[in-house]
Formats: sequence, C-alpha cells, structure tokens
Amino acid sequence: MMQRVLILNGQFDPFTLRQTVDEIFNRLTKKQRGWLCTINVAILMMMRADQRLQAFADRASITVADGQPLVWLASWFGGKLPERVTGVDLVDAICERAASEGKKVYLLGATNDIVAKVATSLRERNPALQLNFSNGYFLKDDAPARADQVRKSSTDILFVAMGVPRQEQFIEEYWDRLNVGMAIGVGGSFDVLAGLRVRAPTWVQSIGMEWLFRLIQEPRRLFVRYLLTNSQFLWLVLRSRMGYDSTKKETN
Ligand code: UDP
Repeated sequence: MMQRVLILNGQFDPFTLRQTVDEIFNRLTKKQRGWLCTINVAILMMMRADQRLQAFADRASITVADGQPLVWLASWFGGKLPERVTGVDLVDAICERAASEGKKVYLLGATNDIVAKVATSLRERNPALQLNFSNGYFLKDDAPARADQVRKSSTDILFVAMGVPRQEQFIEEYWDRLNVGMAIGVGGSFDVLAGLRVRAPTWVQSIGMEWLFRLIQEPRRLFVRYLLTNSQFLWLVLRSRMGYDSTKKETN
C-alpha cells in the first residue's frame, strides 16, 4: 500500500478516483470490512474540535482528499496527492462498478423524494445495479431498526448522506449491526446528484474555489463556517511551514 500523506491532523491515501474504486472492490473481494472518509478543509478543522470524529477518521480504511487546496498543499507536507476525490464522483463510479460486479449498494440519507430520485437515476444509468435506499430523517429510537434494514438487504457498499458528523456517528454506532463491506459518508451528495444543489463548474473546482461557489449559494448557513475553518486552516498550514507540529489539536 502506498504511503499516506499526513496533512495537519488528516492522513490521506494518495489515490485517484479510479484507484479508490479499485481499492474498495479489492477489499470487498478480500472480505475486509471498513469505512472510507472523504475529507475537505472544513471537515479537517471540524475533526480538531471533535475527538470522536477525529478518531473515526483515524480508523478509516481509506481516506481521500475532497478538496483542491489539500491536493495542492500535499507537497508542502512531504507527499503527493494525485487528484481530488469527491463523494458525488464516488457514488457514480462505485455504482457503475457495482452493477458490473454484482455488488449491492444502499443509499441512506436526505429526504424521501431526493433519495428516490437519486436511486431512479442511478438505476437508469446502470440497469443491472442492485440498489436499496431509505431517507436520512429518522428518530434516534428508530436508528437500530434502520441499521437492521440495511443489514437485511445484505449490502456491500453503504452510502450515508446525512451530513457531518451525523453520518459518521451512525456508521460507528451501528457498525456491527449494519454488517456492510464498506461504508462511505457522502455528506450532501444526494442533494447534488438529485439536482437540488448545483456543483461548481469544473474550472471553479480546479482553481480551488468550490467553497466560494457554495458560499454564494447558501451564504447564511455557510459564511461563519467557511470564514472560521478556512482561516484556521491557513493559520495552521503556515505554522506547520514554520516548523510547528500541527498534527494534533493540543498544539493549536
Ligand atoms: N440530512 C439527513 N438527515 C438529517 C439531516 C440532514 O439525511 O437528519 C441530509 C440532508 O437532507 C442533506 C445532507 O444530509 O442531504 C447534508 O445535510 P446538510 O447540507 O445540512 O449537511 P452539512 O452540509 O451541514 O454537513
């Protein structure tokens, strides 16, 4: 296995989208269970304030960088990340591969309408795909039953799109009960796949400005989040350039 790249408090696998998908299916073949984290700058900063989220990410079988700034900065941290890997792209690529290999997927998250719409479009594009789904709005008391539902459909790959850290907590808490091969938290990806939210144009993504594009779409919700996480990130990166250890929260 290629060496991971340590950027501040995150350990990233140097995989392209294709290599990530290959790695997932290799693990399924070998019956190695685990979860995959897609981490962007905001999540990386959230991890520093949330020990449980940090521990979850530290135990991921695969971690990919979902942000152009992380890909660029990898070399400052003594490594190289080949490209950005997003939740949306993973859902598409994995479903295509799952259809051809006869693996089962499960979509958990977002509202009924949205998740059903995503399921329909994935089935249209991949007629052989074995897919089940349910929404991400359930009461805490109903969570065990929801996990059982996933288990009963003998899922190979579970996508959980309920936002960070809700989705990570669910995966961790019901890990044994879910009994899936690979679990992947994909945040707001179902909303994007259903066309509810628009993704930044490729050129905006490639100059590392997707966060600004999202901010313009949802300024009220995202302004404080991005202002804080981006400046904290910049600060920590500069500090680590100057030789300070920024791998742990204590050294903030
Ligand atoms: N979501 C969900 N259950 C919840 C809350 C949110 O399934 O209890 C879904 C929501 O519909 C959306 C996704 O999680 O598709 C991400 O939500 P949001 O954008 O609020 O998350 P954030 O961007 O804050 O992580």
